[in-house]
Amino acid sequence: MDTLVAESAKPARQGLKTPAYAAASAKAPIAPFTIERREPRPHEVLIDILYCGVCHSDIHQVNDDWGGSIFPMVPGHEIVGKVAKVGDQVKRWAQGDIVGVGCFVDSDRTCEACLAGEEQYCESGMTPTYNGYERDGKTPTYGGYSTRITVDENYLLRIPEGIPLERAAPLLCAGITTYSPFKHFGLKPGDKLGVVGLGGLGHMAVKLGHAFGAHVTVLSHSPGKRDDARKLGADDFLVTRDAKVFDANANRFDFIIDTVSAAHDYNAYLKLLRRDGIMVVVGLPDPSPLSAAPLITKRRRLAGSMIGGIAETQEMLDFCAKHGVAADVDVIPIQDINEAYKRMLKNDVRYRLVIDLASLKA
Ligand code: NAP
Ligand code: ZN
Repeated sequence: MDTLVAESAKPARQGLKTPAYAAASAKAPIAPFTIERREPRPHEVLIDILYCGVCHSDIHQVNDDWGGSIFPMVPGHEIVGKVAKVGDQVKRWAQGDIVGVGCFVDSDRTCEACLAGEEQYCESGMTPTYNGYERDGKTPTYGGYSTRITVDENYLLRIPEGIPLERAAPLLCAGITTYSPFKHFGLKPGDKLGVVGLGGLGHMAVKLGHAFGAHVTVLSHSPGKRDDARKLGADDFLVTRDAKVFDANANRFDFIIDTVSAAHDYNAYLKLLRRDGIMVVVGLPDPSPLSAAPLITKRRRLAGSMIGGIAETQEMLDFCAKHGVAADVDVIPIQDINEAYKRMLKNDVRYRLVIDLASLKA
């Protein structure tokens, strides 16, 4: 009896109270919020978050553009931090390691996609870093607009030395989302690559396309980005507001990557592909109509692609370190997050906003 009393008198296992910023409901402003992170289980790692990139997907999900958003929502899936503590079975990571967390933190680990290292396409659904539930189906996941996160050791990335940490954070989503289709669909040196939209994803597509040896052309609806495009590594720049551009550049490109976040006419861009060319859509705007004609008349292909698997994300990070590639960022305190969303929607970002989480710890 004594033992029982002693057991029940023990305090329940406490979560780690963690400052965060959250949206309480769809389209609500992002405001201070407290969440609980857990002490690492045997195969988990507790991370002190240093930086978190602001992706346009954060805005889509806070606004519930894709439906099914879960609130309160702590966004953020471009996370770089320092390992604070490891579970007692963790061998690969140690306190003080600099690690990354991207768009997902778990998957079923048994389906064909997971076994192929493509956990992002997990057949029972990956566990998104935020706006989802853990494998138990009921514990909500919270992202990087917070000071720490507890993640399974198999879903972490190693940030190679040499990449400034704030410039590494956007690689965890914007970097891998553009690298993966280049690898998968075989972008080759000398290929004529068109990058549609020069934002967070687009500027990474320019840098990575250039590092792959492609001849890179930016297709932008913002004439003011011309000089930036060149500095980022583009060879050419086309302003898509001028409809004549589409006729003048018909059949030009081997590969187009479309990163635009707003609805636009895919058919017009497909006609810019040469015979057998491929256009990969990575931007996720509202639906827009698609015609068969531009596809069948030149055996063109249209594909989509979503982030990348853990192994490929590590490969991308190592590739970036080797080729001196990192995001161009503007570091902001978390208190500026609502203004940051407005700036992104006004197209006033060059080219990724990154939150310094020291602003939340202070
Ligand atoms: P971002 O930084 O806001 O950039 C989007 C770019 O789209 C803008 O810089 C702009 O480029 C262009 N654009 C915006 N509004 C436009 C309009 N009305 N008409 C034509 N062009 C317009 O966004 P991001 O973070 O790169 O994300 C881009 C999209 O990719 C989002 O839909 C996001 O959800 C999605 N995404 C997908 C994945 C995936 O796995 N597939 C991963 C991450 C994000 P210009 O000024 O040069 O025209
Ligand atoms: Zn993202």
